[in-house]
Amino acid sequence: MISGVRMVMLGRQGAGKGTQCGRLARHYVVPHISTGDMLRLAVKEGTEFGLRAKAYMDAGDLLPDEVMVGVVDERLNQGGTTRRGFVLDGFPRTVPQAEALAEITRAAPLDLVADLQVAPEVVIERIASRRSCLDCGAIYSVADPPKYPWHCDNCGGDVVQRDDDTEEAVRRRLDLYDRETAPVIAWYAERGLLVEVDGLGSTDEVAARLVTVVDERVAAARAASGAAGPGAT
Ligand code: AMP
Repeated sequence: MISGVRMVMLGRQGAGKGTQCGRLARHYVVPHISTGDMLRLAVKEGTEFGLRAKAYMDAGDLLPDEVMVGVVDERLNQGGTTRRGFVLDGFPRTVPQAEALAEITRAAPLDLVADLQVAPEVVIERIASRRSCLDCGAIYSVADPPKYPWHCDNCGGDVVQRDDDTEEAVRRRLDLYDRETAPVIAWYAERGLLVEVDGLGSTDEVAARLVTVVDERVAAARAASGAAGPGAT
């Protein structure tokens, strides 16, 4: 069995990235690093950075590249927490961010970039019913609520609709995604790192698809580098 992976998850908002990244992180025993969750935590803590971030997030705008690159660089180099790898969610969203990530991971490059594919009409419907835990970020929906409404099954936190999940902000983020992030997909495809995964189906079905492609890619990347790697068993 493969353990450890260094990967990026791409996909439209509402494609199921957060849920699937959590599952992959548990499966491969690596941290799930979500830039959106990191920013929401800063907003909740009321830091100066959080207040500045909130203005961008509420408008459905992207934070400046240099700010996000600094945040991710610091997190990926935090102690030994990413030694076995990571599942990066929400970053990179622009080509300059992808270029910066290649620099940051130069010593131990990515194994793969998965693009979780779900059509825009489907994600708009999903996001409208999405609810998430203010404390731990766990994701629910109107159709799949927590056991005790509306308190998180994991931590008891309040489960609410995100401030930026209004239809107007969602449409803006989807437009931005096509404009800014689609070129990132092309950038990774050119470098042979991209794997496209169908995001339609049950959570279990999509998770099984992802594990299959991640196992293949990690095994191939390790064979190509001629090393078993610290996380391989
Ligand atoms: P998410 O939870 O990934 O949808 O992120 C929520 C919001 O955080 C986005 O709409 C952006 O305002 C901001 N954000 C998260 N990641 C990034 C990033 N890599 N670059 C710029 N802004 C980001």
